[in-house]
Amino acid sequence: MTNFSAVDVIATKRDGGTLSDGAITWLLDAYMRGDVADEQMSSLLMAIFFNGLAPQELRTWTDRMIASGERLDLQGLSRPTVDKHSTGGVGDKISLILAPLMASCGAAVPQLSGRGLGHTGGTLDKLEAIPGWRATLTNNEIRSQLEAIGAVICAAGPGLAPVDRRLYALRDVTATVESIPLISSSIMSKKIAEGTGALVLDVKVGRGAFIKDPARARELATTMVTLGTSHGVATIAQLTAMDAPLGRAVGNALEVTESVEVLRGAGPEDVRELTLGLARIMVELVGLDVDPEIKLDDGSAYDVYRQMIQAQGGDSDAVLATAKFRETVVAPRAGIVQSVDALCVGMAAWRLGAGRARKEDPVSAAAGVLCLVREGNEVEAKQPLFELHADDVEHLVRGRDTIKDAFVLGDNAVTSSPLLIERIEK
Ligand code: URA
Repeated sequence: MTNFSAVDVIATKRDGGTLSDGAITWLLDAYMRGDVADEQMSSLLMAIFFNGLAPQELRTWTDRMIASGERLDLQGLSRPTVDKHSTGGVGDKISLILAPLMASCGAAVPQLSGRGLGHTGGTLDKLEAIPGWRATLTNNEIRSQLEAIGAVICAAGPGLAPVDRRLYALRDVTATVESIPLISSSIMSKKIAEGTGALVLDVKVGRGAFIKDPARARELATTMVTLGTSHGVATIAQLTAMDAPLGRAVGNALEVTESVEVLRGAGPEDVRELTLGLARIMVELVGLDVDPEIKLDDGSAYDVYRQMIQAQGGDSDAVLATAKFRETVVAPRAGIVQSVDALCVGMAAWRLGAGRARKEDPVSAAAGVLCLVREGNEVEAKQPLFELHADDVEHLVRGRDTIKDAFVLGDNAVTSSPLLIERIEK
C-alpha cells in the first residue's frame, strides 16, 4: 500500500506546489515498475515544463534517476577521474582529443557517450569510422582500460539511469524536452552514475546549439553545476559559442582526421583553443600540476590516442573511408564572409548522410562537409567555400540544397567574438 497517488502528484505540480521527497521517490519507482502510466508521466512532465522543480525537488528527482540503475564504481584507480560533457555542437570532435590529452596529463577519463541524432553528430559515430573500433565495453574492461591507458570512450550501457531512456522518449513526443530541470537531471544522472569524480560541462550557446539564448544557457549550466556539486562530483561549466561549426570538418571520418591533425600539433585554432580551455579546467578540478598544452605539443596526447583506439580494436593508422562523390560550393561574388551558420552546416552534413533522423538509422562514415572559409575571411568570386562529401547522388543533392543558406557574404569587416564565453562554478 502506498500513501501516494499519481493524480495527486500531477495536480500538486500543475497547481505550482512542491513535491515531497517521498512523492518523487514513489512516483519514479512506480513508473519503472509500470504502476504509473505513460500518460500520467506525460502530464507530470508538462506540469514540470511549466512550473519547474525547486532545488530540493530536482535533487531528489535526480537521485531517483541515478538509483533506477547501476552506478559504476571507479574508486581505487591510481589516477583521479574527470570527464567532460558537451550539450552538443556542429563539428564538435573535442572528446576525441580531450580524453587522451587528459590521460596524458595523468587523469583517467571515463567518457561514456551516445550516438548522434539530428544535426549534431555523436562521438561514437565518429569513432566507428575507424575500422575495427568497438564501442561496447564491459564495466571490467572500462576499469582496466582506465587504469592502463587513462582514457575510455565507449557506449553508455543500458544500466545507467535507465529511467532516463523512458523519460526522454516521452519528452521527445510530448514537447517537453526543452525544460531546464528535465535536461539537467537527464544529463547529470547519467554522468553521476558513470562514477566520475569531476566533470567539466561544455554548455554551447548560439545558432548551432540546442540553446540559443545566453541567459538560458547560463541557467542550465548553473543548475547542472549545483546538481553535480551536491552529488559530490566537482563540477565546473564553461559556456562556449556555437554560432559557427567547430573547426573545418563536420562528418564522422572527416572529424576523426581533423582530431588527429590537432593531436599531431596542427589542425584548426578554434578546436585547439577549446580543447585546451576545457583541459585546463579539468586539470584544475583534479589538482594535477601539468600544462595540457605541453602534452598536446610533445606528442604525448597522440600516443595515448593511438593506445586508446587500439585497446578497443581500432586500427589507429587505417586510411578512413572516403566519399564517392565530392563537390565544392563556390562564392557567388567577391566579398567578406559575414557568417557561417553552424545549424545549416550541421543540417547539410546530416542530409549528406553523416547523421540520422531516427535512432535506428545507419550513418555514413565518409559523408560530411569541409568548411573551407571562416567568418571574416575575404574571398574572391568562385573561390571554394565548402566541400560536400556523399556516398550517392541523392544525398549529395540534399546536402547541396541545404548548404546554400549556410553563409552570408558582405563587404564589412567582421570582428570575431570569443569562443570561451563564461565559466560557471559554485
Ligand atoms: N541530452 C540529454 O542527455 N538529455 C536531455 O534532456 C537533453 C540532452
